[in-house]
Amino acid sequence: MKLQAKSRVIDEEQEDNKYMKAAIAQAKKAYKLGEVPIGCVIVYEGRIIGRGYNRRNTDKTPLAHAEITAIKKAVKVMKDWRLEECKLYVTLEPCQMCAGAIVQARIPEVIMAAENPKAGCAGSVMDILNNPDFNHQVTVKKGILKEECSKLLKDFFVELRARNKALKEQKGNL
Ligand SMILES: [Zn+2]
Repeated sequence: MKLQAKSRVIDEEQEDNKYMKAAIAQAKKAYKLGEVPIGCVIVYEGRIIGRGYNRRNTDKTPLAHAEITAIKKAVKVMKDWRLEECKLYVTLEPCQMCAGAIVQARIPEVIMAAENPKAGCAGSVMDILNNPDFNHQVTVKKGILKEECSKLLKDFFVELRARNKALKEQKGNL
């Protein structure tokens, strides 16, 4: 690899890590609310124009996914439903709803951390982001800061199970 090309790859890697860290910061907000920790940011010309984190239980709606919230904010900033020059960073592989919204918003690139074998629609359960039959395909980069994002999810579910177990035992003692 030529030196220039190599430094471009390193720059891109640093940039991806930086924005994924911002998405992780969003996921941590969900964690604090007792929500499954998933976070998302949307970047336009090196600037974050939309942030979101999972608030499904807090807002009592299946629509309150991180990506949907971030898209809602980004389109407001762009004053356009198309996010054609934006990149979306998300800590977990998008579900069918979010993958659909990403295609609808014409987002050209998604950078994701952990895969979601049970619900992911960037290739795990199905591939909505890259279906040649749709009028828009998304370039997908996987595995950026995957360990950190997976650990956050794992810690959350370990804590949740412990909490549920304690509650059950409490009820049993009554
Ligand atoms: Zn979703």
